[in-house]
Amino acid sequence: MADRLDSTVALVTGASSGIGEATALELAAHGANVAIAARRRDRLDDLAERIRDVGVDALVLETDVTDEASVRAMVSETVARFGRLDTVVANAGVMLLGPVENAPVQEWERMIDLNLKGLLYTAHAALPHLLAAAESEPRNVTDLILISSVAGRVARLGNGVYTLTKHGVGAFAESLRQEVTKRHVRVSLIEPGAVATELASHNRPEILAATQARLAGVERLEAVDIAEAISFVVTRPRRVAVNEVLIRPTEQE
Ligand code: NDP
Repeated sequence: MADRLDSTVALVTGASSGIGEATALELAAHGANVAIAARRRDRLDDLAERIRDVGVDALVLETDVTDEASVRAMVSETVARFGRLDTVVANAGVMLLGPVENAPVQEWERMIDLNLKGLLYTAHAALPHLLAAAESEPRNVTDLILISSVAGRVARLGNGVYTLTKHGVGAFAESLRQEVTKRHVRVSLIEPGAVATELASHNRPEILAATQARLAGVERLEAVDIAEAISFVVTRPRRVAVNEVLIRPTEQE
């Protein structure tokens, strides 16, 4: 079937919860073997069981993507185990909101280290393998999925540094797309609106309350809604590159 990922290998960062977890399961359901990376090993072990239950293989990679050596090991262990790399989803991220004035600067550092540097390390380590796999069967095309946000398109009061990181992801995606697309590596940007995950829970309590008030009454997306968009992108025929997908909850302004 044209929309299957049989005999391909996917790697998902931030797979221990939310969008990453749902994406790993979705790619497995399409037939991919999946390497799953994050820091919480117990969550990954549980997910690996669920992936194996659908009849494909899973590889657990306890990884801190803010550490370049850890990211290199993540990619090389995936290729050592499965022999190739076809789909990479650079998803790990954190959203720490609030005014710029008097913001705890360590929150900015966490977002820049994870949302930007972690994603860059992932793309850099994976790219040679994606380029190599794009020249071979079964698909002769490979995918690098970069998870941005609506905040990568629109800046809002109170999300200054998060929106900075996600705008950066979008700019990087377009430049890298132009660099590798003729060699059949598709670089795609996914830009979710509000999704019901753990993401907002890392905020200071007063910030969390303000965020929830702003989205009061909005039925959130579910992580599987984003996962399905990603599986749509990576199962397109070789001639089709879906460069960008913006998905909001219907009720989100
Ligand atoms: P979650 O908080 O549920 O997931 C974040 C994931 O990132 C977890 O698996 C976490 O695992 C992982 N992670 C955090 N720090 C590190 C690290 N140093 N190294 C490796 N992995 C790490 O949030 P979402 O699923 O919502 O977020 C996923 C992506 O989607 C993010 O990039 C986010 O910006 C983006 N997004 C989310 C939206 C939403 O509304 N939920 C909207 C728009 C974009 P662990 O702690 O085990 O390491």
